Amino acid sequence: DAASITDPARQPDDPDAALRPKSLAEFVGQEAARDNLRVFIEAARSRREALDHVLFFGPPGLGKTTLAQIVARELGVGFRATSGPVIAKSGDLAALLTNLEDGDVLFIDEIHRLNPVVEEVLYPAMEDRALDLIIGEGPSARSVRIDLPQFTLIGATTRQGLLTTPLRDRFGIPVRLNFYTVAELERVVTRAATLLGLGIDGEGAREVARRARGTPRVAGRLLRRVRDFAHVAGDGMVTRAIADKALTRLEVDSLGLDAMDRRYLAMIADIYKGGPVGVETLAAGLAEPRDTIEEVIEPYLIQLGLVARTARGRCLNDRGWTHLGLVPLSGSQT
Ligand code: ADP
Repeated sequence: DAASITDPARQPDDPDAALRPKSLAEFVGQEAARDNLRVFIEAARSRREALDHVLFFGPPGLGKTTLAQIVARELGVGFRATSGPVIAKSGDLAALLTNLEDGDVLFIDEIHRLNPVVEEVLYPAMEDRALDLIIGEGPSARSVRIDLPQFTLIGATTRQGLLTTPLRDRFGIPVRLNFYTVAELERVVTRAATLLGLGIDGEGAREVARRARGTPRVAGRLLRRVRDFAHVAGDGMVTRAIADKALTRLEVDSLGLDAMDRRYLAMIADIYKGGPVGVETLAAGLAEPRDTIEEVIEPYLIQLGLVARTARGRCLNDRGWTHLGLVPLSGSQT
């Protein structure tokens, strides 16, 4: 459906796994992050040590999982992946950790959603590469310390602010991922088209890139839908006209906003006269979880300058009004 095509969250079948770049050189954009990682990887390799623990944070679909896999590959070590909500008990994490090989990367997606009891196990594991286990029960219970292999934990989170301080402090290499520029996404789209065996011209790639919410995962998804359209309505070649027609039909507008984004903007404009309005109020009005609003909808609207987050709530900027085809209400602040 039209609302989900720009949803940057991973889909269960993960069709973009085939499009994942396999090396830092192949990875488009995020220059600062790549430059830093390259240095740290090189240093760890030459010292024959495990890389320090890495935290990737930023909106969904920007390449956190992809980068984690690339780091493991460039280090020449094994890669194990899990996610915060999946590790139910501390025993599950202990089992994962004791099964690692020397130097391995353990990737924990959505690490801000770890159960606090499980998180406690992670502290000595990260700091001393050791596991503190309680053996037995009652008065005869005793604690034993098990040494773990040298490993690298790579955590990923959409919201760095949701991590507890002790956990955040244990990552030696925090890496922020930012929305991609249109030029970078153009390269992502062109590369994906080549991998999909799809013909696309420069303007077609640019049109898809402009409307992909600064997010490679969305770019890949839009491209697949545009490809279908090009096969049915055209000669299979993606041009600007074909891309525009397909994306307009999918209700992805000129800025890449979908129906939900526009409902969000319209609600602030129509009901709250441009704001300020609290996020809880918006969440209730839109019948969307607050997390979705804060992690998925707002970051891109704020990046585009359509909306501002203020201490008193969300406000529509002039650009937001204009995008809705409205004139800013007098008295609204920008
Ligand atoms: P995240 O873990 O941040 O949600 P992923 O690493 O799963 O994001 O990336 C989503 C998809 O986007 C990948 O499968 C890949 O196809 C594509 N992708 C991400 N970053 C890049 C990039 N820098 N260059 C090319 N494709 C990318």
